[in-house]
Amino acid sequence: NADQAMYLSKTNGRNQLTFFEHSMHAKAMERLKMIGELREALPRNEISLYFQPIVDLYTGKITKAEALVRWCHPREGIIFPGNFISLAEETGIIHELGDWVFRNALACVKRWKQEFGIDIQVSINKSPKQFLKKGHTEEWAELLRNSGVAGNNIVVEITESVLISNTAVVSENLRQLHQLGMEISIDDFGTGYSSMGYLKRLDANFLKIDQSFVKNMMTLPTDAVIVETIILMGHKLGLKIIAEGVETEQQRKWLESNHCDYLQGYLFSAALEVDDFERLLKADAWP
Ligand code: C2E
Ligand code: MG
Ligand code: MG
Ligand code: MG
Repeated sequence: NADQAMYLSKTNGRNQLTFFEHSMHAKAMERLKMIGELREALPRNEISLYFQPIVDLYTGKITKAEALVRWCHPREGIIFPGNFISLAEETGIIHELGDWVFRNALACVKRWKQEFGIDIQVSINKSPKQFLKKGHTEEWAELLRNSGVAGNNIVVEITESVLISNTAVVSENLRQLHQLGMEISIDDFGTGYSSMGYLKRLDANFLKIDQSFVKNMMTLPTDAVIVETIILMGHKLGLKIIAEGVETEQQRKWLESNHCDYLQGYLFSAALEVDDFERLLKADAWP
């Protein structure tokens, strides 16, 4: 009987191992397939740039927009960045993708100015990997020059994780972006390795309060205190504050009475395809 039990557990173990190997293998194959498809996504025009308006809290007008990528996959439908940005970062595809986002954002800003006479600031998300590529800022300087767009029409959003990667290289990059007239925004503020020290070094222009705090500030007193404090501190450091993920009128009112500067969220609009965004932009500029 002991033999039998041994036999059973062995086969069982073996079966489990094969099962495990199979699922690992399937996962690896799935990943390889996705990498291949992601590489082809740009040349096949499957990537598109959506825009989410950012409104001035006091005038209610759209003064900025955040550019957010979407992958329109032929079989899977729309894939959100949360499901492919990290793969793009691991494979280096992020460089090509990030450059494409920048060029596309420049082209849109230029067209909105030329065709509609509307001048807004567009923010783009930049991943830590992009900062570490040699000669990167020079390439962007060239793209900016060729576009004819003013540097201050572009805001570069970075997360706090950028700051722990390589402080010297990153600071130098940010300095160069500033020299080109571009502005810097610290995204998802309060969630990462928040250190007050880098706020001083960075010379950013905007702080974006992470949506998790905004989501809970009406119900959790601690989150309300955090938001209030970020706004006060940001202002004292000369930064403008953007609240992310604003979904209710109650939140908007609270942010207004606490002197936040800009809001972004479903209350006003989700990220829109460029045609829809342009319609909204025009309706907002010429009511
Ligand atoms: P993020 O930069 O913090 O962007 C804000 C995210 O919150 C967007 O998700 C936006 O659609 C969503 N959002 C906006 N308002 C609301 C709201 O009221 N409620 C809720 N629940 N969500 C709201 P999205 O577009 O899925 O992007 C997710 C993240 O992917 C972004 O977070 C950003 O970190 C990254 N990402 C997007 N585009 C790019 C890109 O071009 N390059 C890089 N490196 N990262 C990108
Ligand atoms: Mg962002
Ligand atoms: Mg954010
Ligand atoms: Mg986020």
